[in-house]
Amino acid sequence: MFAIEARKLGYRVHTFSPESDTPTGQVADIETTANYDDLDAVRKFARSVDVITFEFENVPSRTVEAASESTNVHPKGEILHTTQNRLREKIFLSTNGFPITPFRRIKLIDDLFRGLDEIGLPAILKTAGFGYDGKGQAKIKQRSDLDAAYAAMNGNDAVLEAFVDFEKEVSVVCARDQRGNFVHYGVIENDHANHVLDVSFAPAIVSETVFNEAVEIARNIAETLDYVGTLCIEFFLTRDEKLLVNELAPRPHNSGHLTFDACITSQFEQQVRAVCGLPLGSTEFYRPAAMANLLGDLWQSGEPDWAAALADPHVKLHLYGKAEAKPGRKMGHLTAMAETAERAADLVREARTRLSGVSAEVAR
Ligand code: AMP
Repeated sequence: MFAIEARKLGYRVHTFSPESDTPTGQVADIETTANYDDLDAVRKFARSVDVITFEFENVPSRTVEAASESTNVHPKGEILHTTQNRLREKIFLSTNGFPITPFRRIKLIDDLFRGLDEIGLPAILKTAGFGYDGKGQAKIKQRSDLDAAYAAMNGNDAVLEAFVDFEKEVSVVCARDQRGNFVHYGVIENDHANHVLDVSFAPAIVSETVFNEAVEIARNIAETLDYVGTLCIEFFLTRDEKLLVNELAPRPHNSGHLTFDACITSQFEQQVRAVCGLPLGSTEFYRPAAMANLLGDLWQSGEPDWAAALADPHVKLHLYGKAEAKPGRKMGHLTAMAETAERAADLVREARTRLSGVSAEVAR
């Protein structure tokens, strides 16, 4: 999606990935396939481009350092280093005074005993690195869950978090350019299923106070990080209207996919503009919008019925071109606009139901 937006603006795209025929590779001018630890290949790639950005944060620091020797990298390597590890990210957030749920670093099982005494039950144990969409997470409801949760971390560094009994989850997708200008897409409301984002809609149904506070937190985080590019801040909104930062995504985010079609400038075009040193575009919404994710599970009994989903002319289909549809894998999404965000959410949900051949009426 980034590459398509870059091409629209007249840029040529060169992508680097350990895999071949990737979604970006399919639309890029050049696709380099090499491992991240092949630093010669990384340096050669870096010398061939004017600027580098990322589609996900788990690129090793050494790789980013090697790339930075000969070209501009946005967002900068330190930001990736901070955000690719839950512990470093939480330490960054708490030392800078951003609101988060209480947490403890867990290395040994004794840390877990002590951490639970301090934080209380229920709690969630998460691996510090390489965790997303609920992967590498274990909920601890009672003390008897402790051994299994600890074993699930496989000896890796972990973070124990107090469980948040949230009212809803929201996010702010924003962008900051090389001169420090900041834009945002307001507050987006996110429904998860099995820890994975399911449906997003905007504007979120939140008070003006919550809206302003969420945007201010996002602006301050982007400034503190000296961020360049598109950034997403995921929040829990507690039942007493308090915002807690759950996670940062240093890139365009799944919840921002609804900015396609619905906004003057999509989150991906914004990323292109920011990293290429162009002014940021307007984030104005034409209408309220929603997005429903399409997971690999939808392919279980064959190719989904795309025509049925698109029977509603207001629904748009985005497929990423991933080779294999595995259960839980994000393969694409549907978007729609309507007079209200809730109506838009209904439209994408109904369209998704039609994909598996069940009529929306029956499904309801
Ligand atoms: P994460 O990968 O940390 O974003 O977690 C995925 C999802 O799990 C979140 O979007 C929440 O729905 C849920 N979750 C994660 N951490 C917590 C928590 N501390 N309290 C309640 N729910 C959580």
